[in-house]
Formats: sequence, C-alpha cells, structure tokens
Amino acid sequence: MGSPRWSSSRALADLNAAYRNFFASVTGKRKGPKAAPPRFRSRKDRRQAIRFTANARFAITAGGKLRLPKIGDVEVRWSRDLPAAPSSVTVIMDAAGRYFASFVVDTGTGPLPEVGAEVGIDLGLTHFAVLSDGRKVANPRFLRRTERKLRKAQKALSRKARGSSNRARARVKVARIHARVADTRRDWLHKESTAIIGETQAVYVEDLCVAGLGRTRLAKSVHDAGWSAFIAMLEYKARKHGRTFARVGRFEPTSQVCSACGIKDGPKPLSLRAWTCAACGTVHDRDVNAARNILALGRRERLNACGGTVRPGLALAGPGETGTRRGAA
Ligand SMILES: [Zn+2]
Repeated sequence: MGSPRWSSSRALADLNAAYRNFFASVTGKRKGPKAAPPRFRSRKDRRQAIRFTANARFAITAGGKLRLPKIGDVEVRWSRDLPAAPSSVTVIMDAAGRYFASFVVDTGTGPLPEVGAEVGIDLGLTHFAVLSDGRKVANPRFLRRTERKLRKAQKALSRKARGSSNRARARVKVARIHARVADTRRDWLHKESTAIIGETQAVYVEDLCVAGLGRTRLAKSVHDAGWSAFIAMLEYKARKHGRTFARVGRFEPTSQVCSACGIKDGPKPLSLRAWTCAACGTVHDRDVNAARNILALGRRERLNACGGTVRPGLALAGPGETGTRRGAA
C-alpha cells in the first residue's frame, strides 16, 4: 500500500532511518535492543498513516483548522485542547475509513497538588474495579453490548462474494463497529483512571498477569474489561502527575487474608461475595477486602524497597493517548 505522493519525502526519510537503525544494530554500532528490519505493510492492515514533522511546516490555524503542506486547511473535530505546540502530527486513516490526526506534544506537566489518600485496587469481573475505600466501578461491558450487532455484521460480510464492492462495504461496517467499541472503551478508561489519579497520592494494583488470563475461557471478559490498558494508563498518569504507582505481587492470596486482623482464612470460592473472619468476626465484602489487602501490601513493599515510588518526569503522551484524534475529513 503506497503512501500518497505528497508525503513521499517523509515516508522515504522514515524508511531511511529504519534501515540505518537496522544496519547499525547488525554491525554492532547501535547499542541497546536489536532493531528489526523495516517491515512491509500488511495487506490486511488497511490503516494508512502519514507523518509530518515541524520541518514540514504543518500548522494549526487561528480558526482551529489543521494546515498540511500541499493539502491545505483541513477541518478538525478536536477531542480535546492541545496543552502545548505539537512537534509532529500523524494523519491516520483507519480500516473504517475515518481520518485521525494524532499530535506529539511535550506537555512537561508538573505534579498535581498532593492529596492524602492512598488506594488499593482489585480488578475483577463482577465489578471492573473495587477500591479499598469501598468504591466500586461497574463493569461497562461495552463489547458485549454491541456483540450481537457485530455478529450480524460479520455474518453479512461472510455472505458477500470475494472482491465485490458489497464485500468491501460490509467490511467497513464491521470495522466501524469495532472502532466505535474501542473508542468508547478508551474514553471510559481515560475518565476512570484520570479520576483515580486525581484523588489519590498512591495507587496499588494487583499484578494480574493479564496476558495469562487472556488465554483462558475468561478471555473475552478480560479483553472486554480492558484491564491492562487501564493499568498502563494509571501508571503513566501517576508518573505524569507525581503520584506513586506500584504493582503488588500476584502470589499474595489477597482474597483469603482478613484485612482487619491479618489471619489467613483459607480459600474462598468465587461465588462467595461476603464472609466473616473466624478470628476477629469482621464481615468482609470479598472485593473490598482484597483491595484493602492490596493497599496494605503496596504500602509495605514501598516502605521496604523505598525506591519503588514513581517520580514525576518528562511526560510524553501515553498509550492510547498520543494526542488528539478524531476525524478530519
Ligand atoms: Zn480477621
């Protein structure tokens, strides 16, 4: 899949850099992890992208349009304000035929004002997340909700003849549903993670080994829940705003230990939502108890290690937040 003509010099420069890194890596001139040879575009990956650096003289006009070299002014639906002048912009066309402009911005955001609260988070299936202060974030199950629609669209796609224009249209429809689900999920995860980081000074999360869970029959729910994306957002937002973020080892039986007295009360079936500690008589909500244990473990590990805090630093856009997206047209 070729790039349009007007970006050919940029595409060549990118390719040139990729080859330079690869050969320098092979000959040992380049330190660090081995660079892979440049990949050819996948015929299946229908996304196309063009990058403009500051040298290419792209600009944002006073009227809020995106001015691109040799293209002109493009109307943009901004998903949010840019915090600073962008150093580059990538225009992407996704499989659904929508255009996105993604900006690289060096925000250099300082730490947020300190708050007292620390929180442990238990990620689960009955709720998306349960916090040690008792708050429960309901699982939105975005994908499940649109699953029937998606199945119908996929069935329609499979009935269309190969290479036909009907098939192309059906494929775009499937891609659109997928894209809408992903957008909604990402927006929701951003909202939830930003709220938590804003309110708490330290966040501790159980290290779930999400990749391992993803291979089990829980896979669909796990994927749907977007835990790993959520954890990644918490981590980079914590770094950006001077909060502490730490994962707690997943070998600790957080749901079996009484968070009040510390007695290990033995295994509990998943169906058991509440239990009473035999030693101290405290009645526990299973998930809140687990979150409290995660908080206690996180604090302990932090005090032991005393190097586990995440310090504020140069903040680049994190995964899923590479600047502003949404359609130019
Ligand atoms: Zn107890």
